[in-house]
Amino acid sequence: MVLNNEKALVVFSGGQDSTTCLFWAKKRFKEVWTLSFRYGQKHQNETEIAQKIAEKANVHFHVMDVPFIGNLSSHCALINKEIPMDEVQPAQSVPNTFVPGRNLFFLSIAAVYARERGIRHIITGVSETDFSGYPDCRDSFIKSLNVTLNLAMEEQFVIHTPLMWIDKAKTWKLADKLGVFDLVRNETLTCYNGIPGDGCGHCPSCHLRQQGLMKYLKEKEEECSNS
Ligand SMILES: [Zn+2]
Repeated sequence: MVLNNEKALVVFSGGQDSTTCLFWAKKRFKEVWTLSFRYGQKHQNETEIAQKIAEKANVHFHVMDVPFIGNLSSHCALINKEIPMDEVQPAQSVPNTFVPGRNLFFLSIAAVYARERGIRHIITGVSETDFSGYPDCRDSFIKSLNVTLNLAMEEQFVIHTPLMWIDKAKTWKLADKLGVFDLVRNETLTCYNGIPGDGCGHCPSCHLRQQGLMKYLKEKEEECSNS
């Protein structure tokens, strides 16, 4: 069932969240495009994984090189190999896995890219529920940027955030509902140590993903035993 006869662009990393968003978009839009970024992240296989998933999903795929983002953020543990990543969020600041400006740059570039192709709908997998303390995953930031981008380009962009108010367990549930539970579980890369699927199991990103998965599988089991 296609609800919308328009094109959509998914900001796509090949992780759990953006992959779920990709299949969410495929159910809703006539034509789906994906855009990935090489910004200096430690694990360059991220974009190869993203490409494979996009090919499977049969959608347009493009990687954009934006090394300036990494060059600007030398104190980020996802970019600088010398810095050990924060396992928990520090009390007074964002964790050092935060890449300052990343979503601001990604979404701004995505909007220009979309405009060139007559695409109005932009989809991002950010979530305020499990936002790890990243300020650019919050709803207020996305809404504010949406207004700014429309003013900047005299356009009517709509930024969609299907995961904004759901936690990781519900994101797994959504992937299951979309028929891509196994694909998301086995083929996406969320791990900060660059290991696809269930990942390294001990980085903050794996913790969040694992906890959500366990919660969802438990809920599903309870639902099955009750019915
Ligand atoms: Zn990991």
